[in-house]
Amino acid sequence: MGTWDYSIFWKETVNQLKSELSEQEYTMWFNMEYETSGEQSLVVSVPSGFYRDQVKQRYQGRIEEKLFELSGHHITVDFEIKQRARHEAAADSTAQGTAQSSSNAPEDRAKKTASSNSIQASSRAAEQKERGNHPLLREDYTFDNFVIGENNSFAANAALAIAKNPGTAYNPCLIYGGVGLGKTHLMQAIGNLAWKEKGCKIIYITAENFTNEFVESIKNNKTTDFKNKYRNADMLLIDDIHFLQKKIETQEELFHTFNALYDAKKQIMFTCDRPVSELKNLSERLRSRFERGLNVDLQPPSYETRCAILSKKIELRGISIPTEVLNLIAKNVSSNVRDLEASLTKLIAYAELTKKPVTLETAQQQLRDVFGAPKQNNVTIETIQKVVADYFSLSYTDLKSKKRTKAISFPRQLAMYIAREITEYSTTELGMEFGGRDHTTVMHGCQKIEERLKAEPSLETTIQKLNKMIKDYNS
Ligand code: ADP
Ligand code: MG
Repeated sequence: MGTWDYSIFWKETVNQLKSELSEQEYTMWFNMEYETSGEQSLVVSVPSGFYRDQVKQRYQGRIEEKLFELSGHHITVDFEIKQRARHEAAADSTAQGTAQSSSNAPEDRAKKTASSNSIQASSRAAEQKERGNHPLLREDYTFDNFVIGENNSFAANAALAIAKNPGTAYNPCLIYGGVGLGKTHLMQAIGNLAWKEKGCKIIYITAENFTNEFVESIKNNKTTDFKNKYRNADMLLIDDIHFLQKKIETQEELFHTFNALYDAKKQIMFTCDRPVSELKNLSERLRSRFERGLNVDLQPPSYETRCAILSKKIELRGISIPTEVLNLIAKNVSSNVRDLEASLTKLIAYAELTKKPVTLETAQQQLRDVFGAPKQNNVTIETIQKVVADYFSLSYTDLKSKKRTKAISFPRQLAMYIAREITEYSTTELGMEFGGRDHTTVMHGCQKIEERLKAEPSLETTIQKLNKMIKDYNS
């Protein structure tokens, strides 16, 4: 630190690349911030490992070439991972980069960043006041509040690019992934940013409400209004499209809405709880529309990302909780972010009620249920087995037994299939729960059901019925 400062060359390099790359590419990848310089090198920070690898592969050579042209030195670029709230366009971050790099003392830098952030924040707040919050979007679902980790950085960067360049960056775009992994948050973050910066007309709606509204409009002879409303949007965000399975008429309507918006180069975006290829009862032409453009997935967060998310959440709530407690939660709750947050909320509520600080001990005590519960999923294998056994008038013990008569093996396979679909258990764990069988037996069982489903569509109805009974079992 101290003697070398290549920040000016960095800034110019970024400027030049900005004019050479497409806006989309630039917005997507140039979220790097200048950190420090060494004798023959400079360090920039990037938000994740995934991001680093991509940027290295795509741009490191080009960046270093430019640095050489500009400075006459062979300066190598090192990438450092730094989780930060990334919200602004790369253009803003380069401007900030210069402000920061005019001094190399770390404290100075920290102070400057803090003050420039708060200036930005207050001017942003002023703008927001003018425009107001979008009535259909949660104001806290922003990019600022979204922690980027290796599990979601591709989706998050794509989302940011879309918010910056609606209709051109990635159109359409579909984000898929399991429950509570941040699909809705990211989708609304796009809406919030585009609303504030682009001032475009944004409609956010769940597929369920879209369906309800459509049905209502038919009932009231108002389908023209319905069509106009959706076909006039600049950005249409439809959440949880898996809900559209079997909704034939709504699918048809959405297909036409899609075409109208797509032809007019309006941004369309969907989320789904699984890859589109796994949706059933969906018209082929709508499926092909969903698959057009960019499909990206969200994965469960790693331990480090879970820790970072927890710190972010307590920072947002303006409270402090010992790091060791956060680490404990992150270690024990891994399936999704919603559960992670729920654990935190439970602890905070407890602390407020008892007026005691949260310690490792109270956390362990209070969260025993959460930690002990299998996979934070409220459906147990036992419930599934009981419901299925009941449905086929078998005993629960028979279903789990080693007996292999046809009358028992089909319901057993069906129970395995359903468990595989609606819980997070692995085939190995399921095997254990089904009378200590091998995981290959479970896989074989599920395959059998899949084959039968193809030949016998009515089985699907049975499965739906069972799913509902399982869901209702506890209530
Ligand atoms: P999904 O729509 O995929 O079921 P949500 O978007 O509703 O999930 O996310 C569940 C909760 O987890 C929300 O409160 C959201 O803010 C939070 N969350 C998910 N991912 C992140 C993340 N990367 N950073 C911060 N919060 C997150
Ligand atoms: Mg959601």
